[in-house]
Formats: sequence, C-alpha cells, structure tokens
Amino acid sequence: VPGGEMEEESDNVKVIVRVRPMNAVEIARGDKNVIHVDCVNGEVSLKNSDALTPCPPKVFKFDHVFDRDSKQVDVYNAAARKIVDNVLEGYNGTIFAYGQTGTGKTFTMEGNRDVPELRGILPNSFAHIFGHIARAGDNNNFLVRVSYLEIYNEEVRDLLVKDQRKRLEVRERADIGVYVKDLSAFVVNNADDLDKIMTIGKNNRSVGSTNMNEQSSRSHAIFTITIECSERGLDGQQHVRMGKLNLVDLAGSERQSKTGATGDRFKEATKINLSLSTLGNVISSLVDGKRTHIPYRDSKLTRLLMDSLGGNAKTLMVANVGPADYNCDETLGTLRYANRAK
Ligand code: ADP
Ligand code: MG
Repeated sequence: VPGGEMEEESDNVKVIVRVRPMNAVEIARGDKNVIHVDCVNGEVSLKNSDALTPCPPKVFKFDHVFDRDSKQVDVYNAAARKIVDNVLEGYNGTIFAYGQTGTGKTFTMEGNRDVPELRGILPNSFAHIFGHIARAGDNNNFLVRVSYLEIYNEEVRDLLVKDQRKRLEVRERADIGVYVKDLSAFVVNNADDLDKIMTIGKNNRSVGSTNMNEQSSRSHAIFTITIECSERGLDGQQHVRMGKLNLVDLAGSERQSKTGATGDRFKEATKINLSLSTLGNVISSLVDGKRTHIPYRDSKLTRLLMDSLGGNAKTLMVANVGPADYNCDETLGTLRYANRAK
C-alpha cells in the first residue's frame, strides 16, 4: 500500500453535483428551473415552484457543485484529475456517474471524444495517463491494460468481445480477490488505443426504450484501466507498483413507477434499484467509518469494485441532475443519495 500515512476514510470519498442545462424540449415547454447553485460554497438547493409536485426547499452541501455552464475540462481538473494522479501513484480509484436517465452521466464520463472541449472524464484521463508516462524517465517501465464490462440484470458481459451473448462468472480467490473469469484485457500503448476501445465498448452497451427516454440505459458499465509501473530503485532493484482506475457509468436511478415498466422491465428495474442502493449503503458505511459490516456482497457491482472502494482507495461520485421542475422528485432523490455518500 503506497503512501503509508493513515488518512481519514471520509477524505477518500468525494461527492460532486453537476447540473445539466435545460434542453430544447424543456425550453420550448417553458419548464421552470428548480435548481439553484452556489458554486463558491458547493451548495445546491431545490426551490419550490408552481409545478404540480412542489419541491421542498432544502440546501445540500457537497465537495463541489458544477452549474449548467460548467466545462468538461473544469470538471476534470477540479474533481477527477486528483484520483487519476493517485492511481498513477499506485492507489486504486473509482469514479461513478449517478443520476436519472438523461441528466448527463454519459456526457460527463465520455462526452464527445471528437470535439476536444466536449471530451469527458474518460478521454481526459487517457490523455493524462499517457502524458504522465511520456514524461516519466527511462527508469520507469509502464504496462497499461484495459477491460470494459457491463452489468445488466446482475449478469456480467464483456463489452470488448464479439459474442455479446456470453455471460461471465464472478469468482474469488484468496490471492487475487474478486475477479471476472475470462474477462478480456488489452494492453494499450497510447491514448488513441484507449479512445478506440472506449468506442468499441460503447457500441456494445445494452440500450432499449422506456417511455421516459428513448435510449435509457439500464446497465452499469465499468471501464477499468490497470497501470503497472516497474522502476529501478536506488538499491538497484526493480520495484513494481500497480494502480487501478474504474470509470463507472451507472444505470439510470429513476424509479420504475415513472418509467411505466412492467414484466421483464420491472424485474430489471428492481435489480438496478438493488445494486444502486447497495452501492449507496457501501459508500455510506465507509464514510461513517462503520467497518463492522460493509455490504459489498449484496450486489455484483460492489463485489467487483471491492478492492477499489474503501481502505486506501479513492472514490469520486458525480451526481448528475437536470434543472427542470417536472423532474424535481427524481432530482431530490439524487441529491439525497449523493448526500448520504459524503
Ligand atoms: P445519461 O447518460 O445520464 O442518460 P446523457 O449524458 O446521455 O444522459 O445526456 C442527455 C443529453 O443531455 C445528451 O444529449 C447530452 O449531450 C446532454 N447533456 C448532458 N449534460 C450536458 C451538459 N453538462 N452540457 C450540455 N449538454 C449536456
Ligand atoms: Mg447514458
């Protein structure tokens, strides 16, 4: 374990909120804005409006709050960069995007890789990692590997293989901990390789339709970059350090009542809710310092991320919300969820 200093576990978990701008439909409909942001103090409040469902006035405080005009690079620099630096030092880290479908999770994580100012956390981290490697001296040898998987209905699929029907097993071994059997891993040599792999995986993600959003995402996607660095120490010996970065685009957090799901869709929704609530429980028990029982094993998502949540690992939760009044119940739900994680 690098560093050696004992840090408060609560320092290892950061929570930020990002508000997306109103979209064309909301503007055309004349939706009211219910979110008020105080960027200086990291505060968000939901204000009452004349909407059908009045939102209770309440102020939440976070590590950082990004308003609708925030830039991708600002989110990266102020919130994500530190975790990637930590991973390069040998820590494990996880960045989650949480929120209702359509609030900007995928925009925040991936963005548009072809437009420099719209690149999200993934492409920015790729450039950061390989920029660091390029600057490191010849004494350092890096090995960077990547995997990309999806958890859909509590089933794990490899997003980087041709056969998308195959389900993978989650296993555990005393020496290496929890792992996914037969998950592919690719060695990458530059940021461009990572960009290409991100796009292959993105095209394999499950999407389907609900009446809330035509391409609502009901799966969790985990993009994992493992960085190993071997370095010749002053003692002439090779020292190896390894860090792992998990970039997680979570399934939409909306409750199924609103999406009108029935049958299989309802079962899916129940599993999504279970894994998101387990994640919330795991993070809040880490933050509260209740180490007696951390319920990692209650969902595949938290089980797979066990070595990257808690202990010395660094966690960033990005809570994405929309500004409009018609979503204010869901927005309040997201702020409450995020608030529990601090
Ligand atoms: P989610 O992944 O949470 O379902 P998306 O990332 O797909 O949501 O975002 C929904 C839409 O809103 C997309 O068209 C996206 O480009 C746009 N969007 C989201 N966040 C922002 C933002 N901060 N600035 C501009 N457009 C955004
Ligand atoms: Mg999405």
